[in-house]
Amino acid sequence: MSYDLVVIGTGPGGYVCAIRAAQLGLKVAVVEKRATHGGTCLNVGCIPSKALLHASEMFEEAGHTFEKLGIVVGKPKLDLKAMMAHKQETIDANVNGVGFLLKKNKIDAFRGTASIPAAGKVVVTAEDGKTQEIETKNIVIATGSESAPLPGVTIDEKTVVTSTGALEIGSVPKELVVVGAGVIGLEIGSVWARLGAKVTVVEFLDRILPGMDGEVAKQFQRILEKQGFTFQLGSKVTKVDVAKKGGATVTVEPAAGGEARTLNADIVLVAIGRRPNTDGLGLDKAGVATERGRVVIDDHFKTNVAGIYAIGDVVRGPMLAHKAEDEGVAVAEIIAGKAGHVNYDAIPGIVYTAPEVAAIGKTEEELKAAGVAYKIGKFPFTANGRARAIRHTEGFVKVLADAATDRVLGCHIIGPHAGDLIAEVTVLMEFGGSSEDLARTCHAHPTLAEAVKEAAMAVEKRQIHM
Ligand code: FAD
Repeated sequence: MSYDLVVIGTGPGGYVCAIRAAQLGLKVAVVEKRATHGGTCLNVGCIPSKALLHASEMFEEAGHTFEKLGIVVGKPKLDLKAMMAHKQETIDANVNGVGFLLKKNKIDAFRGTASIPAAGKVVVTAEDGKTQEIETKNIVIATGSESAPLPGVTIDEKTVVTSTGALEIGSVPKELVVVGAGVIGLEIGSVWARLGAKVTVVEFLDRILPGMDGEVAKQFQRILEKQGFTFQLGSKVTKVDVAKKGGATVTVEPAAGGEARTLNADIVLVAIGRRPNTDGLGLDKAGVATERGRVVIDDHFKTNVAGIYAIGDVVRGPMLAHKAEDEGVAVAEIIAGKAGHVNYDAIPGIVYTAPEVAAIGKTEEELKAAGVAYKIGKFPFTANGRARAIRHTEGFVKVLADAATDRVLGCHIIGPHAGDLIAEVTVLMEFGGSSEDLARTCHAHPTLAEAVKEAAMAVEKRQIHM
């Protein structure tokens, strides 16, 4: 068997890369060790978490907002089994869709764990131990990432869980302790908080959502506290003792050291980040260089070994599905002799809570640290007619523009549908647009997107509705 390209891993990076390469006329195969395609994202990440976020948000709305809209349904009752069935249906539809697309594009799919004995060769080891060797001109490593472990804490995926176990809990925990105030911890914490859990988040840093704009993170923390979250910031979990009868005692210490305290938990979710996944690939044998676990690549996704490329969570940059997808397209185009490219300055990041948080480009903190002079335009959703009509007025849009050129350098949104609203700013930034461009673009009324336009107008203090 001989191919132009073998892609290892069929997550958003790998399957998109394979399809784009097939579109460009290459003979392509993929290797996947999981029973289904779609990687972390479709099986245990983006998709199942969004299915549960949506369902739990509807539960919350039915309990709290419906009445204000004049819809009387009584106290909603939770059928967690049915909610989990909705999640599974969503996963199945998506992973089957990827399988269909691979077939449609005439891509051969091998099931098993891939290793790379040398450039030009991939060995696939099936579950029963049988091996198969594939010849290929090019290899793309798209093996993704896995939950980072917390030293000294054993994950059993029952009481002490990663995000994977936290998306499969069989009954609503009374007390959920989340270790890590990043995107995954806060999203999954929101699911269970809405369904009735008391959620305590322990975070090492003195803020939530590290890397996001500080002002947005502060307001977001206040909103989550109103929703019932408790935060223990500047704190570290040093021990988790699981009781025989179920539940656990979590030992927490101040990050800077000091007296330990304990928290009771029915479930402990460890969400302190993810680490690249290169286990079993045999990168040493092939001579592929890694740095702190990540495969080292140049600006064209090439590793130090000719014919071997890498993309997605296993390489540098934000661990996001859309970043992996765009890299998949770019590397396929490069291998096919075209000019693939990813603009790392315009990759949006979203937290799919309610309200959502969305960010693109630089934060105020980053601009200050880089000594860039900037102007700010801000507009609150309380002044947006559509937000009032749907009773979701929390949050604001903040546009950051270069003081000299007016080019938009960043945008940060906390509010309803922030994840969709950020798309127009992403396009604007991709085209090097200014706040003036955004402010002079006609936005339909009444839409939430008008808040984005008004924030752009506010850069020159000419917003109308505030
Ligand atoms: P992966 O999706 O991890 O896929 C890698 C695949 O490679 C896996 O299927 C694995 O089985 C396979 N593999 C590994 N090693 C081998 C081997 N040796 N041989 C064969 N196969 C192998 N990102 C977003 O952008 N938006 C979100 O809303 C979002 N939500 C998330 C929620 C959760 C709970 C989690 C955990 C992650 C979330 N992410 C989200 C992150 C997103 O899932 C990842 O960024 C994305 O999946 C990375 O894609 P990838 O193709 O690089 O790797």
